[in-house]
This record gives sequence, structure tokens and C-alpha cells, in this order.
Amino acid sequence: MTKTLENSLDATFRELFSFLQTLVEISSHTTNKSGVNAVQDVLEREFTALGLLCERIPAKDHGDQLIARSACPGSAMLLVGHADTVHRADSGFDAFRRDGETAFGPGVMDMKGGLTVLLWALKLVSQVRPLNELPIQVLIISDEETGSPSSLPTVKQICKNSAAALVYEWGRDGDTIITRRKALYSYKCEITGTTAHTGNDHSKGVNAIRVAADQIQRLEAFTSYEKGITCNVGTISGGNATNVVPDRVEYTVEIRTPEPGALSRFEATLSDLIAEAEARNAHTVFTKTSSLPPLLECEESLALAHAYNKCGKNYGLQANITKEPLGGGSTANFLSGFGVPCIDGLGPYGENAHSNKECLHIPSLKPRVLSTATFLLEHFK
Ligand SMILES: [Zn+2]
Repeated sequence: MTKTLENSLDATFRELFSFLQTLVEISSHTTNKSGVNAVQDVLEREFTALGLLCERIPAKDHGDQLIARSACPGSAMLLVGHADTVHRADSGFDAFRRDGETAFGPGVMDMKGGLTVLLWALKLVSQVRPLNELPIQVLIISDEETGSPSSLPTVKQICKNSAAALVYEWGRDGDTIITRRKALYSYKCEITGTTAHTGNDHSKGVNAIRVAADQIQRLEAFTSYEKGITCNVGTISGGNATNVVPDRVEYTVEIRTPEPGALSRFEATLSDLIAEAEARNAHTVFTKTSSLPPLLECEESLALAHAYNKCGKNYGLQANITKEPLGGGSTANFLSGFGVPCIDGLGPYGENAHSNKECLHIPSLKPRVLSTATFLLEHFK
């Protein structure tokens, strides 16, 4: 079977590469609704041609979510990607370019390379077995790069009918399959104090910046590299003039943690900070602005990773699995939060994600396509 798949991929590799170019040349920053929909159009045509039934779920402020399903009933293997990128059309980084073994372009690895791998793997599988004999579904979301505000209900819904999931974020060093990612929680903090003239009425003022400074030291102390926890106050603004006691401050803070228990300790500290500020006559409001659960490794996801790596070894992949949770999140976090075992990082290898040097290592495409195709055929044998 391995040889058949390899031959069939060799025969269509030029087509695969030009498909990748087509996707990259469609500018699809998350806020570019028509661009994201244009990517979904291209994918929908391909999935339909493979005999899958496609459904589009429109969103008010984002592009559509795209679902493609086989006719095979039962709890499905879910393949997941996203059509949006972080690259704006006017960023100056807008062309697809090949230089030897490397392809450059906006989203070439995150994740138009991943989408190409996902699609081509299904194409190869379909040449061995009709896809409608296999319980497979595909979800391509439109807003992953901004935390999935519009796609989350669709993600939740599809999880109800998914036995396991494969996520096509880019491949990591050592071909490491991602089974763990940290949780991420962000908050906005607003502090209200009392303004006063610094020369005449300094003692009547409650300096909101001073209160914020004390709070920030406590929050940043949550960082523990040994435990893999990081806490970062990322933005701050407040005050009007040097000779005025400032009565307003806003700052934003995020915490990333591999252990779910750290969140309750963190939120208990936020409550303490509110009470302490109140005792100083300052009012503090924390608002949670994003909440991404951890991608947790479980027995089932570990079994998926081993099974995938067994296939990958046939094609020269190094068969590693994450030992420490990654700091960055993906749709895999939500899937795990909704109880679906999943593995991530199945896209091609690349570098410089989210920058204008983003690039993909072209020789990593073939082993990745072949590994997913073989994995699916083995899984449903
Ligand atoms: Zn991505």
C-alpha cells in the first residue's frame, strides 16, 4: 500500500504544489471576510469532488465555517484546519515565492500548507477506498487566529459526533506530534481611584497607577518557569499629566498554564487584589477577555500519536511526541476541552510563523501527506 500511495503522490505533486500556491495567493487575514470565503470556496470544490457532503455556516463578522462529511454514519474522525491567516493584505508580504527547497508566502505554513496536506491525504485515501465508506468529517474554521469567537459554537457542535481529531497546525522540530498545549486566560483590568491636584490636594487623591503597580507585581509573581506557568501584563495606560493624581488605569494580563488548578489560584488572587484596592478606596474590575482550555494528553490521544508516528516512520518522520506542553494554543485546545482526544502539528514543517519571513520546507510535504493517508487507512482497516 505504501508504494501505491507514494506513486500516486509523485504523480500529482506538481498539482499539489500549485494548489498550495493558489491558497497562499488568496489573501485571507481573519478580518478579510471575502478572502477567507474565497479559500473556503476552493476547499469546498475539492471536498465535493471527493464525494464529501459540504455545509457552510455563515458568521456575522467573519468568513464561513466549512464542514465536509462522508456519508458513513457513526462517530467520526475529525480533520481540522483554519482558512484565516495573521497576514493583512497591505502588509507587503503578499506573494508566493519558491527558493530551492523553501516556499515563502503569507500563511504558507500556518496553515495553507496544513490544508494542502489534509486535502491531499484524503485524495490519496480515496484512491484506495471510497471516502464514503469511512466515518470522516472535516472542519475548516474562519477565525482561529483571533481565538475562534465566531467558530466556537460550530467546533462545540461537531465535537458531539467526533471520536477523535487530527489538527493540521505546522510540523515541529523533530517531527514532534503535539499532544499538549497550555491553557490561556486573558483579562482586562480597570482601576478607578480619585483625582487631585498634586500641589494642593495630594493627600485627597487615590493614585490608580500606584494601585496598578502593586497589583502587577503580585500578578507577575505567578510566573514559574519550573511549573511552566507564565503571567504577563502586556499593555497599560492611564493618567493625564505629571501634576495630577491619576484616577484611571487600564491594563491587560494573560496567564498560560499547563495545570488547570493554577487558574483557580490566579482568580483567587484577583479577588484579593480587588479587596485590597477597595481598602485603599480604589475600585478594581477584572473582565475575562479570552479563555482557552489546555490541550490535555490522554490515553486515547497518546494512542493516536503512536499510531500516527508508526505510519510516519515509513516515510522518514522522526516519531516524537511533545514532552512539555507548548505555550501557543490552537483549535486542539477547544477540541480537548470538549472531550475529543486529538493530536496536532500534522502539517508540513516550516519556520517564522506569523512573520513576513514565514516559510515552508517543501520536502516535508510528501511525508506528511503520506503519513495522514496511511494513518487513516490503517485506522479504518
Ligand atoms: Zn494556525
